[in-house]
Amino acid sequence: MKEVKSPKKSLLYYYGIAMLVIFLFNIIVTPLLLQGQVEEVDYGTFMEMIEDKNIGSVQVENSQIVFTDKENTAVYKTGAMEDPTLTQRLYDSGAKFAKNIEKTMSPLLSIFLTVILPMLIFVGIGQYMNKKLMQNLDGPNAMAFGMGKSNAKVYVQSTEGIYFDDVAGEDEAKENLAEIVDYLHNPNKYSEVGASMPKGVLLVGPPGTGKTMLAKAVAGEAGVPFFSMSGSEFVEMFVGMGASKVRDLFRQAKEKAPCIVFIDEIDAIGKKRDGQIGGNDEREQTLNQLLTEMDGFEGNNGVIILAATNRPESLDPALTRPGRFDRRVPVELPDLAGREAILKVHAKKIKVADDVDFHTIARMASGTSGAELANIVNEAALRAVRNERSFVRQADLEESIEVVLAGYQKKNAILSDSEKKVVAYHEIGHALVAAMQTDSAPVQKITIIPRTSGALGYTMQVEQGDKVLMTKKELENKIATYTGGRAAEEIVFGEITTGASNDIEQATKLARAMITRYGMSDEFDMVAMENVNNQYLGGDTTLTCSAETQKEIDKKVVEIVRVQHQKAKQILEENRGKLDELAKFLYEQETITGMEFMEILNGKEGA
Ligand code: ADP
Ligand code: ZN
Repeated sequence: MKEVKSPKKSLLYYYGIAMLVIFLFNIIVTPLLLQGQVEEVDYGTFMEMIEDKNIGSVQVENSQIVFTDKENTAVYKTGAMEDPTLTQRLYDSGAKFAKNIEKTMSPLLSIFLTVILPMLIFVGIGQYMNKKLMQNLDGPNAMAFGMGKSNAKVYVQSTEGIYFDDVAGEDEAKENLAEIVDYLHNPNKYSEVGASMPKGVLLVGPPGTGKTMLAKAVAGEAGVPFFSMSGSEFVEMFVGMGASKVRDLFRQAKEKAPCIVFIDEIDAIGKKRDGQIGGNDEREQTLNQLLTEMDGFEGNNGVIILAATNRPESLDPALTRPGRFDRRVPVELPDLAGREAILKVHAKKIKVADDVDFHTIARMASGTSGAELANIVNEAALRAVRNERSFVRQADLEESIEVVLAGYQKKNAILSDSEKKVVAYHEIGHALVAAMQTDSAPVQKITIIPRTSGALGYTMQVEQGDKVLMTKKELENKIATYTGGRAAEEIVFGEITTGASNDIEQATKLARAMITRYGMSDEFDMVAMENVNNQYLGGDTTLTCSAETQKEIDKKVVEIVRVQHQKAKQILEENRGKLDELAKFLYEQETITGMEFMEILNGKEGA
């Protein structure tokens, strides 16, 4: 590609020069030629001069007549007029006259100048830009394109060599995909029975859970080429480019079969076609092409398409119907065992002390994704280097959980003494309410060191276990716990702060969900008032009820939260002694572990 660059550029250069010359000629030279000598006169003067036979040569043009006097001493011009007998009179006067012949040449020239040359210039610029774009696109997985035509061998075979062993946890997903690996190894086994593999497999789950890794691992295990492309890459260019890229991708994949084609973020092209006005034509064309290609393969031709998305509900139904992406493999956030395994896989790349306990770290990092865990391990290694150690200690890992989840510690603490006291009471308020309701350690650890994320403290929750169902009572208790921070402030300081904003948000969300989604109110029975749009990304919801019902819901939400807030206050008032004791400990130590918390709570009254 590089070698064609220079001639193209110089071609453009010549176009530019030609254009410039013509331009200069028009604005400078032509007026100069005519200026000075030419005197503009009226048509009557022209007619008089003909009659007086005081006329030398005449040049008739379309819109004007240029002429000289008999002695050729002066040049005149006048506007051309409808004058049928002009020719005869000129002849009689003995003038040399002619219609401008140059004009008959000029249409060709002017067509060239006004139509063809600009076109050539635009084509030149277009090609130049095109080439620029291609150069930008020349990443390892990207595909070059030449105005819809494809270049051979643009998809690079993955050389990363990722196998199932590199993907920790996610056993169900691996089991599911192992069948595809087996098929790629041994297609005859399947075709003998008449079984055909699904053409497309959709990997569905939250970001950073290893979907891309799993797809690569399938290719790695099967030892087949891996073509990878992101859904957004298909649509970012010109209209029609996406469709031709899809065509090209599949042409190449078929040549290389058996192979894996991986389309990341397939929702970028596979969104529901909702027929919106001004909808994205390019995306629809691309999607249609993808559907056509998938229908076009015969079964068992060895091309398996894996696609990843974290918004499966937004996919076009045409994409998920049988014969297309009809198999769906959930790739969920890892559980405790999964987290431990992921930590161990990534810890292989760094030096760790012998006493590091990954089980504890995994417990502390509840709710994290694989990508976050990888990040935690790396942060720990960086911390070890910062402390000039050659290996990672338990403390490095523990600290980096907080770093990844809450940001770095702010070195110059901005908390004033009184603020620190408020934060300590607030955090203990949450924990104490939680502990009194469940009779168990409410937290693993609380720290009140400000973080770069803006958090004033950090509370490491206890592992929830593999609990999937929550009772109404548990939900209510959780709301009470959220309100516990504010309740403590009210009881102790008689003053409230902005520190509870996130608690308020969470409590409201839960209370609302109880009514609109879990059917936990007497009034509305088992009627859904809200739909979840997006379970893996934030889980925002849409109301599906009338305005009057909304009003009722709002009232109910307030009611639920108010009752729990009162309950939390009551719990704290009844345990005021413990509240003070625990808050003092946290204020002084800046950190309290779940164990220390329970020791103080169960210690002798007033000790
Ligand atoms: P996704 O495609 O689901 O967004 P990726 O596959 O790109 O996530 O994962 C991002 C990174 O997170 C990987 O490169 C890897 O380092 C780490 N990771 C995620 N899940 C796992 C896992 N199950 N085992 C090991 N590493 C993981
Ligand atoms: Zn709080």
